[in-house]
Amino acid sequence: MTSTAGVTYTYDGDGKRVLKANAGTPPQPFKLYWYGVGGDPLVESDASGNSTDEYIFFGGKRIARRKSDGTIHYYFADHLGTSRVVTNATGTVPTLDDSDFYPFGGERAVSSTSGNTYKFTGKERDPETGLDYMLARYYSSGLGRFASPDEFAGGPVDAFSSNDPATPGPLPYASITDPQSLNKYAYVYNNPLRYTDPTGHLATGQVGSSEGMTINFRMRPGDSVYGCMPFCDSFSSVNSEAEQQQSQQTVAVDPGHGDQYQGSTQVDPGASGGGLQEKNLTLAISNGVSAALGKNGVPVIQTRTGDVQNAGVRLQWRIDATTGASILVSIHIDSAPQNPAANGMTVHHNSKGKALAESISKSNTILSNRGTKQSNFFLLRHFQGPAVLVEAGFISNASDRAILQKQSAQIGARIAAGIMNYLHP
Ligand SMILES: [Zn+2]
Repeated sequence: MTSTAGVTYTYDGDGKRVLKANAGTPPQPFKLYWYGVGGDPLVESDASGNSTDEYIFFGGKRIARRKSDGTIHYYFADHLGTSRVVTNATGTVPTLDDSDFYPFGGERAVSSTSGNTYKFTGKERDPETGLDYMLARYYSSGLGRFASPDEFAGGPVDAFSSNDPATPGPLPYASITDPQSLNKYAYVYNNPLRYTDPTGHLATGQVGSSEGMTINFRMRPGDSVYGCMPFCDSFSSVNSEAEQQQSQQTVAVDPGHGDQYQGSTQVDPGASGGGLQEKNLTLAISNGVSAALGKNGVPVIQTRTGDVQNAGVRLQWRIDATTGASILVSIHIDSAPQNPAANGMTVHHNSKGKALAESISKSNTILSNRGTKQSNFFLLRHFQGPAVLVEAGFISNASDRAILQKQSAQIGARIAAGIMNYLHP
């Protein structure tokens, strides 16, 4: 959507909305959005770039807003991230905002004076349309449906049309085995109390064939509804959320190389051999790991889903990207051109990662096993929790190379099985 109700929207190359403008020639911008690595704006400003609102997030949820005059508002969200209560800095009752929400997001406001626009599941509700901005698409809480179809060809047969159904194409955001996902307008399998849709493509907990494992692929803590009354102490509410996040054990999956880090002029391909590049094999295997973990309901953060330009400080950007994860699994491919017979998987680990490494090594049934080893690599040194670096096989060995290329998803699934056995022995 580029223009509606006299307001024009502009998006960046990633499809994130970066500004709103009023009608005019040229249109007159009145609100700019400034993003961090996630899909939620951290700062909003006027057209000249003067900050009007800053947002503070904790554990993936918006917890506070700082207005340009220094006023602080605190947000109290439910398990879906919907801000039900907004208070001023001292928690005065009655609160600034106090709203109930219907399951599909309709708002029933008791009071609404804070000017907050981030409502159902924490997404912005545009006053000009009443629609919720969910990145890829706009959502109508009134209809309980998206306002535009999901991006896949074909789909369910129209019973009232004599036309043949369109030939189904690839299903990047749906699964042929799950009829609920095939309705192109449906919201989160019609199960809005349980799931959210952070990207407008996929319900949390759902994995698509290509994009499901992006940074937004995160489950919300807990499935039961809990709220916080206005008199709750903000710290106890934050702590209980932190504990719930922890019990979820988010796994960071890091495909090695494929980044153009600070000081380098091109994307780092990693090792190469037989026409293959390490960066592509690590990504294919990592996608397999994330997909398999996602199917088991394990929250995943994947540090990259393609080549990354301007990645930041070498390796440190990867540590930064794993914020919120309690386990790190970095995927690499070994190389020993001087010894082309060398083959098999080695699992390196830090001091906390021995059991995890052993579980992954034991789970590998596809390549030969070279065992586990405590090592001192940067990622293993700088990650706080259990961390492993899997050298999945040798790109310098012809037989390993064929397996790595043809069975990357299966290798990923075996690594994920090792992680699952470690998490739930
Ligand atoms: Zn490597």
